[in-house]
Amino acid sequence: MNILIVGSGGRESAFAWKLAQSPKIKQLYIAPGNAGTSRYGQNIALSVTDFDGIADFVIEHAIHMVVVGPEEPLVKGIHDYFLSRADLRHVPVIGPQQQGAQLEGSKDFSKRFMARHGIPTAASRSFTRDTLSEGLTYLETQQLPIVLKADGLAAGKGVLICTTLDEAQTELKAMLADAKFGAASSTVVIEEYLSGIELSVFVLTDGDTYKVLPAAKDYKRIGEGDTGLNTGGMGSVSPVPFADNEFLDKVEDRIIIPTIEGLKKDGIPYKGFIFIGLMNVNGDPYVIEYNVRMGDPETESVLPRLESDLVDLLQGVAQGNLADRSFTLSSKTAATVVLVSGGYPGPYESGKDISNIESVKGSIVFHAGTTSENGLIKTAGGRVIAVTALEDTLFDALQQATADAGRIYFEGKNFRRDIGFDLL
Ligand code: AMP
Repeated sequence: MNILIVGSGGRESAFAWKLAQSPKIKQLYIAPGNAGTSRYGQNIALSVTDFDGIADFVIEHAIHMVVVGPEEPLVKGIHDYFLSRADLRHVPVIGPQQQGAQLEGSKDFSKRFMARHGIPTAASRSFTRDTLSEGLTYLETQQLPIVLKADGLAAGKGVLICTTLDEAQTELKAMLADAKFGAASSTVVIEEYLSGIELSVFVLTDGDTYKVLPAAKDYKRIGEGDTGLNTGGMGSVSPVPFADNEFLDKVEDRIIIPTIEGLKKDGIPYKGFIFIGLMNVNGDPYVIEYNVRMGDPETESVLPRLESDLVDLLQGVAQGNLADRSFTLSSKTAATVVLVSGGYPGPYESGKDISNIESVKGSIVFHAGTTSENGLIKTAGGRVIAVTALEDTLFDALQQATADAGRIYFEGKNFRRDIGFDLL
């Protein structure tokens, strides 16, 4: 098969690494990819939202399947675009159509979906500019802290946890009246604050049945000890020690099954990954958010644990016979440590030479924000490289990944040395 991966981050590097191992692959392409993905396939200089360009490429190169990494093309309707063209309809796209992608593209939509199908989540109400004054009054009746969420995609920045009423009211006005997050905050979800420990659960579905992939925990803050600004993700581990079988059974019964059945009841076709961000509140799971794709850096911890052929599973999704497929997992633990550019998550430096990658022997190196210039690998993003170690114990995996993260060098490099150590 010829497969095209859409995206350019560490997640897409992990997909490329895994798919390239399949005996079913003839040619793998990554659009646009990065300096690392070219080891597993051919990079194609196309933006992830250039649907016409992607379509031309798919036809010219006889692509048999398109695997979409990030949410933006899904929310913008790449899958619908393929279905709308008679010459592309036969090419399966892994990732939901626009309607299903609303689970991530609109927090209001996802809250209504959960309410309709009895899926446990924080209590909430939505407000718009027209109902701003009701929203301000509603805030007065709520406990603190309180969570404000921009409805639409806001590059991971649209969630505010407010600790005073004054702050919450000021922020609500800024979001609704002053378009703090642009159109994304024209609707705001005000949500009860849940106190617990977070983890991510990944599901693959053909729209009828599903497979539960390994759970992971990610680390979002820039600073050690979970301090400082939020980032795209500084590291992850899989499996998650506190997500034992009893907890994961609750997740399946109370969340995964009602989600898949809810999509069916609502007539929403869905072929792809569902990433469920969960809060474990005293042993009970609550949904914090849905994403309609795999996580980054969780993918870099999850895929190395998958022993089976990922192409086979994705064919099950495409053909609607996922129930007939099976997979096995490594019992080892994966730990991922992300190297970021100086200044990230604020304005960061780019174009720095990266050296010593070849000195990493005990981990897998997944490139994220990298580019290749005249044979030299340079930084080209906030998150630059994800280093994943797979070892018998969590401790060994953490030690190995952290040591290997230290071996790679570029000016301004930063990484957290405490990823996963809270779980030991
Ligand atoms: P989201 O974009 O919905 O994942 O929110 C970003 C982060 O905000 C989450 O990863 C949580 O750490 C936090 N968060 C979101 N909703 C809540 C909530 N209801 N209670 C506590 N923390 C939350």
